[in-house]
Amino acid sequence: MTETIKVRNPRSGQDDYELCVAGAADIEPIARELRGRQRAWQQAGLGHRIEVMQRFRETLLSSSADIAAALSTDTGRRALAMGEVMGLTASIERWCGDAPDLMQTADRQSQALPHVTMREQFEPYPLLGVISPWNFPLLLSFIDAVPALLAGSAVIIKPSEVTPRFAGPVAAAIERVPELHEVLRFVSGDGRSGAALIDQVDVIAFTGSVATGRKVAEACARAFIPAFLELGGKDPVVVLPGSDLERASTAILRASVAATGQACQSLERVYVHESDHDRFVELLAAKARGTPLSYPDPGEGIVGPLIFARQADIIADHLDDAVLKGARIETGGKVEQKDGGYWIEPTVLTNVDHTMKIMTEETFGPVMPVMAYRDEAEAVTLANDSDYGLSGAVFGPTEADALRVAEQIDAGGISINDAGMTTMVFEATKNSFKQSGLGASRMGPTGLTRFLRHKALYINRGDTVPIEFMAEGAGKE
Ligand code: NAD
Repeated sequence: MTETIKVRNPRSGQDDYELCVAGAADIEPIARELRGRQRAWQQAGLGHRIEVMQRFRETLLSSSADIAAALSTDTGRRALAMGEVMGLTASIERWCGDAPDLMQTADRQSQALPHVTMREQFEPYPLLGVISPWNFPLLLSFIDAVPALLAGSAVIIKPSEVTPRFAGPVAAAIERVPELHEVLRFVSGDGRSGAALIDQVDVIAFTGSVATGRKVAEACARAFIPAFLELGGKDPVVVLPGSDLERASTAILRASVAATGQACQSLERVYVHESDHDRFVELLAAKARGTPLSYPDPGEGIVGPLIFARQADIIADHLDDAVLKGARIETGGKVEQKDGGYWIEPTVLTNVDHTMKIMTEETFGPVMPVMAYRDEAEAVTLANDSDYGLSGAVFGPTEADALRVAEQIDAGGISINDAGMTTMVFEATKNSFKQSGLGASRMGPTGLTRFLRHKALYINRGDTVPIEFMAEGAGKE
């Protein structure tokens, strides 16, 4: 009998959903079926795949209310749930527009042997396995799946066991597009299902924590398949002296508190020059106090509940550790239970340093620890004093000042005089540095091209080389 696990509702705290845990025996026939269909999907051509994906987009739009409702139960948030559905439809539109150029191939003449023409052929990995997290359940299930499908791969998605409800209405939308249903499926379950999926596919796109990412990388190495890993972050922001503090505090609040801080690219460390520190903290704390919880009415407010109970414990632990070591809470600072859900108001802390977990480990909550620095070199050193290197931000009195500092920060995407740009601009190629990830960028053109293996066809239209060419002494006078 298939095992089931109970799923907690983030607003009520009640277990109100049950999930089947797929094992190898459940995943294997799906993988076999999709592999059987993938070749036809690839050979039907990009034009066909674009047409099918556009129909999927229409289907998503016509089911958007059902999908957003399920996603809203998963995450406890309404506007962002609909935002995820719209974000997915926009990404389908964007990739359908970009794919034709990205999949162009051209013949080239060899310089070494001018009579040899080199022809490129793109060969997609037949079957991609996507393993996704709970913080943006829909978007992060499809962020890699959409370009891979357009590249010609078939895809199996294993969403997080913390937020599985959305997959039902999305699977129904997929079924309404029969050609897509042949090459795209969900499987449900927890880490065991993710581990079983790795053994059935040709490439993995994983989004989640560093700890799990490491296990996934090891399992993929054993299976001898590539893994694209998008992992955690502890994004820094540096505010240089003379910056527009109004602008900086508005952007930093948004980039730290959006989605209740449950985002990999949330700003989690704020470094402000000592001359601006007090004024900046005043502004940030006032704006934080003016950012209400989306409670009790889920149709009002801004800051939703914490989705994952275990994450609520981590946030509370980081706050306790910081306060014990001398940090001062300027506003917020408490994880509270309301009607069974976990909530925390936007929190500003001062008097923090790098002995505290709140400055070194991923907190994943709406928490803004602000630390004063003395000079630019110290700001860069502090920003780089992290195991993570996902993204970050720099504010400066001039663009040139901000760029000078941004160029020294070890992270894949830095917003200049703004924050959280990587959530709004997807066209730039950006790698994850240090422990924030491995493999080609999911953003920019490689988001699609990394699913294509490049094959070279060497067409010799001249003479062939005879064996005598290899003779000892050949080429000597
Ligand atoms: P997680 O690592 O706990 O789980 C992610 C997924 O991995 C889930 O589907 C889970 O079932 C599966 N899994 C667990 N053990 C597995 C195993 N041994 N083999 C295969 N799969 C396994 O992560 P989470 O708590 O769901 O997500 C939050 C984390 O994701 C945070 O660290 C966040 O920063 C990160 N994240 C990163 C990005 C990015 O783009 N870099 C985006 C969003 C979230």
